[in-house]
Amino acid sequence: MPPHTTIIIGAGIGGIATAAHLARRGIQVTVIEKNPEPGGRCGHFSRDGHKFDTGPTLFIMPLVYAAEFAALGAVLNDVLDLQRVDPTYHLVFDDGKQFALTSDLTSMYDQLEAIEPGSFAGFLRYMQEGQRHYDVGMEKLVERDFRKASEFFSFGNLPLIFQLKPFKHHYANMSTYFHQARLKAAFTFQDVYMGLSPFEAPAVFSLMPYTELAHGVWYPKGGMYSVVEALMDIARNAGVRFMFNTAVERIDVEGTKAQGVTLTDGTHMAADAVVANADLPYVYQDLLPDAGPAQHMAHKHFSCSVISFFWALDKTYTQLAPHTLFLADDYQQNFESIIHRLELPDNPCLYIHAPTRLDPSAAPPGADTLIAIVPVGHLNERSEQNWKDICKKARQAVFDRLALLGITDLEAHLKFEVIYTPLSWRVRYNLMKGATHGLSHRLTQLGYLRPKIQHARYRNLYFVGASTHPGTGVPTALISAHHVADRVTEYLCP
Ligand SMILES: Cc1cc2nc3c(=O)[nH]c(=O)nc-3n(C[C@H](O)[C@H](O)[C@H](O)COP(=O)(O)OP(=O)(O)OC[C@H]3O[C@@H](n4cnc5c(N)ncnc54)[C@H](O)[C@@H]3O)c2cc1C
Repeated sequence: MPPHTTIIIGAGIGGIATAAHLARRGIQVTVIEKNPEPGGRCGHFSRDGHKFDTGPTLFIMPLVYAAEFAALGAVLNDVLDLQRVDPTYHLVFDDGKQFALTSDLTSMYDQLEAIEPGSFAGFLRYMQEGQRHYDVGMEKLVERDFRKASEFFSFGNLPLIFQLKPFKHHYANMSTYFHQARLKAAFTFQDVYMGLSPFEAPAVFSLMPYTELAHGVWYPKGGMYSVVEALMDIARNAGVRFMFNTAVERIDVEGTKAQGVTLTDGTHMAADAVVANADLPYVYQDLLPDAGPAQHMAHKHFSCSVISFFWALDKTYTQLAPHTLFLADDYQQNFESIIHRLELPDNPCLYIHAPTRLDPSAAPPGADTLIAIVPVGHLNERSEQNWKDICKKARQAVFDRLALLGITDLEAHLKFEVIYTPLSWRVRYNLMKGATHGLSHRLTQLGYLRPKIQHARYRNLYFVGASTHPGTGVPTALISAHHVADRVTEYLCP
């Protein structure tokens, strides 16, 4: 009997990892990617000796990486050279005051007590809750492949309402631990990684600050793109075939089955199963024929987007740590702007990554490579957004914040600059609305309520990646890939 065949649309993290799992199980896999190289949002580029990760810069949830690489037959520390980043973040507030988030408890005690006397005890209690949210949340929600509603809405899951505080908002829950607004912000800003506002995110997301401090934020030598390279090695060694610079025009369906795909040049490729790694709402809208489900997906809530500045500089700015976050005092207004008004906040919270602090080869000697990321609303079909003007304002906001650290000459030392806007994200990766984290992770779009990894009608069509279960992030894409590979294997080799 000829081997079963699977086509995967997209060589993002989810696509490559699914392909690697399936090929290791003897299934013939072809991955079709519209761009010239793999990685999707976990992208990179190099120019004149400056190396930039264009998407992820934070290696978080190391336990998930270790487990998922093990499931692919690899030992994480053999395939990636990881170093721990501690302090994880340097936070800078509007008046220039700083706070370094670290797993060094003595340093945390000194810093917290200086901001709010008594707050160290609150921090320890918050970490305890974060640990519970991480342990229970990962087991019961994130790492679980929900197949039936009854697995989610069950009596057995009732205790989760008390254990995970799904109906309490993350920021509101912070009053249990801290009084100072700056401390509430310091332990909730990670919600933006899910494209969420802490004023709307469920309190269970305290699992993020917990894992960052308890399990660490890490840096793989060579940057986050080395995760893509490690996965590509596994996939290629298992026999996966990759086609780059090749876009899928549509998924061919008949009755209740996907038959394969048609490429933009008209070529039809048949397969026993199809896995879409391209962003799920885009797949429903552009690659599948049914208008109803497509509209349903398009009307869901989307995460925010970001403007990213990639800067090559002819001098080094030692004031910047590997990960610096500028947190605005008008924190709530920031999220109102980016989530509800789909705008750039007047005084945006923003993030700067300086990779040479961890890997000197990211820039030529004496030079610097900086990545500044400014969260912004996603593309708005209802009103005009002038991205040229918005980028100008975002850029100025970064310069204004850098001045708080005494950096005032950055523009004069720019060798070159590359900018990604929500329009770039949409064009590069077919992300609907340019939403960098795909569908939002609000309560009504989490767990079993998130779009399913298997199509309701075409039973041999599957979805892997950020907009499906469990959600955005490199480690979660690895989990998603594992679930999808199991389902495809069950279907092809019952
Ligand atoms: C700015 C930014 C910062 C981030 N920071 C972090 C971080 O620090 N840590 C972290 O863990 N995560 C981070 N993330 C999230 C993480 O990058 C993503 O969740 C993850 O990479 C998504 O992977 P995916 O499997 O969904 O695939 P995607 O990356 O969406 O890849 C899908 C692929 O499909 C291709 N494709 C689309 N349409 C077609 C078509 N018609 N034909 C063929 N190919 C097609 C696309 O080109 C793309 O390569 C960040 C994301 C962004 C954008």
